[in-house]
Amino acid sequence: MTLDNYNFAGKKAIVRVDFNVPLDENGNITDDTRIRGALPTLKKILNDGGSLIIMSHMGKPKGKVNPKFSLAQIKDAVAKALGRDVKFAADCANASEAAADLKPGEVLLLENLRFYPEEEGKPVGIEKTDPAYDAAKKEMKARQKEFAKKLASYADVYVNDAFGTAHRKHASTAVIADYFDAQDKMLGYLMEKEVKAVDNILSDIKRPFTAIMGGSKVSTKIGIIENLMDKVDNLILCGGMTYTFAKAQGGKIGDSICENDKLDLALDIIKKAKEKGVNLVLGTDCVAADSFSNDAKTMVVSAMEIPDGWQGLDAGPETRKAFADVIRDAKTILWNGPAGVFEFDNFTDGSRAIADAIVEATDKGAFSLVGGGDSVACVNKFGVADQVSYVSTGGGALLEAIEGKVLPGVAAIKGE
Ligand code: AMP
Repeated sequence: MTLDNYNFAGKKAIVRVDFNVPLDENGNITDDTRIRGALPTLKKILNDGGSLIIMSHMGKPKGKVNPKFSLAQIKDAVAKALGRDVKFAADCANASEAAADLKPGEVLLLENLRFYPEEEGKPVGIEKTDPAYDAAKKEMKARQKEFAKKLASYADVYVNDAFGTAHRKHASTAVIADYFDAQDKMLGYLMEKEVKAVDNILSDIKRPFTAIMGGSKVSTKIGIIENLMDKVDNLILCGGMTYTFAKAQGGKIGDSICENDKLDLALDIIKKAKEKGVNLVLGTDCVAADSFSNDAKTMVVSAMEIPDGWQGLDAGPETRKAFADVIRDAKTILWNGPAGVFEFDNFTDGSRAIADAIVEATDKGAFSLVGGGDSVACVNKFGVADQVSYVSTGGGALLEAIEGKVLPGVAAIKGE
């Protein structure tokens, strides 16, 4: 079933959203992107004349009640965004009455699902090495089903609009779907958009396809790099991982960030790229700093010849030009991870050059997908988020989808 084909009039809909918004020390929301992201789905249900039960996690309370992670803190913001009152159920697993009392157009927000260990379904207080672990896990999985069944009992229809957690097989993201018929469960608009964007990258590829992978480490990106190797024409690797590649090829990297146990892996990636005919583009020069700080003294040096006491914190001018030249001609673009320590204003040039080239290519008709927390922060910082084709809200979920993994949150609804 799809959201557009469903009439919610007189129905109670339970919607899994990702309202895991960042809060400051006073509990004020510092970025409400995730709340805004779910609004089209929530409004469609209310406008149809349905009633709404909203459920989400926040932070990592590890199965225990913790006021620091209470969704009560965002109730008013949700009410404001929806333009109507929001009731609050302080215990998500005991909300039957509150749900039953809902009238068409009314909204109930459930307390943080992760106050219950059943949500994630992982046994608590027991190590994986403990001989009793398997039995504890089995018991927790049974409890997880009961928890999901309880949540399902509140509503007639289930909608999953939480792309950020779609890669998790949790009670509210996947298990709950078992308690609804195929015609009464569906993806929300945000999820539909995310799934389509990934599909554009994985199956509907216009060439050349250029992927830009940055960030601090190669180890956390290896799954996606390997999967992309079969698909892309150009693979730009930048950010902190530059120096693991430089060292692996015999370069001197000074005090730059480096994963010494991944040198062989770096060489293997270079070899695989050659075998598969992928144009692997690595940084040749860098902006090196004499300390890890915004005010550090800097100089431009070869990424293979960084003196001791210096560390590469951004892409150099030659590298920026090489990256931009490749990106500008692309027809499909994926960007994940910054080219430097973009949090420091003096080390944003590499990431900015990438962002500008992506905007240019998009302008010429390329499809560009930017995803993963830090690259999203980059396009926001540079004010170009609305000049790329799609900015994904999912970090881990996006990476896993592009690695080619089936997302449990999507599979639970589509029955794949
Ligand atoms: P990731 O979470 O792996 O995507 O990495 C993002 C982080 O990588 C950001 O916080 C950047 O500051 C950091 N980063 C990017 N380039 C470098 C670099 N050359 N040295 C140290 N950290 C970097």
